[in-house]
Amino acid sequence: METWTGGCLCDALRYQVTASESENWYCHCSMCQKATGTVVSTSAIVKKTELRMLKGTAKFYRSSNSIERGFCADCGSPMFFRPIEEDWISVLSGTLDDPEVAPPMGHYGVESRVSWLNIVDDLKQLPTKDDVSLQENKESDSVGPDSI
Ligand SMILES: [Zn+2]
Ligand SMILES: [Zn+2]
Repeated sequence: METWTGGCLCDALRYQVTASESENWYCHCSMCQKATGTVVSTSAIVKKTELRMLKGTAKFYRSSNSIERGFCADCGSPMFFRPIEEDWISVLSGTLDDPEVAPPMGHYGVESRVSWLNIVDDLKQLPTKDDVSLQENKESDSVGPDSI
């Protein structure tokens, strides 16, 4: 069990993650590109119950039928990505105080990878449609948005 802390650029939002395990990904998908303003984002998937806000409340934007993206309403930092019906949430790794704790295990959404970004690691590469996490966590207990 590891305890991570993080927050937004202006410090209005602070959070803590007590991660029993995490699954960390690069995401090259076009929606994450827009939402984060970068061509590739990195995030750590943890259980919703393992994330606790220490300060402030994230604002959530519903970016699709099943997904909400959390950000700081004051400084605009993108922070979270959560499927409404699932028990997990992604924390954008750059908001962690120490992003070193969450090295990615693979690349997701590679069909949208920009040609000038060369992947030089040997990590697995999945297109957006192979959304393993969305499928795999179906059985788990669902936790409501209240934990944010
Ligand atoms: Zn902020
Ligand atoms: Zn994405």
